Amino acid sequence: MERIAIVGLGLIGGSLGLDLSRYGHPVVGIARRAKTAEQALTMGAVTAAGTDLALVAEADVVFICTPIDAVAATAKAIAPHLSPEAVITDVASVKGDIVPAMEALWPNFVGGHPMAGKAEAGLAVAEAGLFAGRPYVLTPTEATNPAALERVRAIAASLQANLCQCHPDQHDRAVAWISHLPVMVSSSLILACQGEADPAILALAQTLASSGFQDTSRVGGGVPELGMLMARHNRVALLESLTQYQQQLEQIKILITAEDWDALHNALTQAQTTRPAYIKPA
Ligand code: NAP
Repeated sequence: MERIAIVGLGLIGGSLGLDLSRYGHPVVGIARRAKTAEQALTMGAVTAAGTDLALVAEADVVFICTPIDAVAATAKAIAPHLSPEAVITDVASVKGDIVPAMEALWPNFVGGHPMAGKAEAGLAVAEAGLFAGRPYVLTPTEATNPAALERVRAIAASLQANLCQCHPDQHDRAVAWISHLPVMVSSSLILACQGEADPAILALAQTLASSGFQDTSRVGGGVPELGMLMARHNRVALLESLTQYQQQLEQIKILITAEDWDALHNALTQAQTTRPAYIKPA
């Protein structure tokens, strides 16, 4: 059993803790607020908890589960307390700028990103089994210690996640398409609806919104901080995908304007047949 420390007990840190303590690992949780540490203990997300970063001292593997912009500062703050053999991993949604910064701080670092989330944030919505059947990406580089990679890989596999491995830059370009672009598209959809000038039509649209709108607006209606940090840390790849998305939307607009229903049907058929390549049956 690995001795685990989790710094940042929110949705992802709490969900990891629920699974890892269930599987018998000793899990120490470190929160900013004593109340969060107590809550994590009460819900069984950790086996010990507190607010002192020195609590990482006994850990074999540390998961940094803070927001993206606090990951490197957190690593810097815990480094003096860790044994040199300890492995640090993170769960941040962007890897291109975090991985080199972390590698410079701690040689036994392995970048990671469990691809599972919710519209809400915080420990209260943490859930056991959140990562099962979902992709868990590890982003080793030439500098990654193979033994450290193997240890993080084994823990991620124990969550019944679907393991995947790629370079941090490839990760960022891929998640720009399937995670960061959808947040911007989905939030734009909600904001565009709000642009309806007739209050009666707007109210009616809100009344009629059902499962389709629920699906398409879910990621856009999520936590604003996460979307903002994705854009800030993955700006170039996100802008590239937004540009291509705009061109695609323009193409659809041209077909509708020209009443070219055959071409529109073809485009929608192509979308329908391609979707299963992204969304696999459970
Ligand atoms: P969250 O629910 O808001 O949890 C973040 C936790 O970090 C909170 O417990 C928070 O403590 C703590 N924290 C905030 N600022 C901190 C700081 N400066 N120093 C130390 N701790 C701090 O967020 P989350 O969704 O779990 O996201 C955490 C990480 O997972 C992010 O890096 C994100 O990119 C990644 N991720 C998120 C998702 C998703 O869909 N949500 C999916 C995969 C990966 P307080 O409660 O005291 O504020």
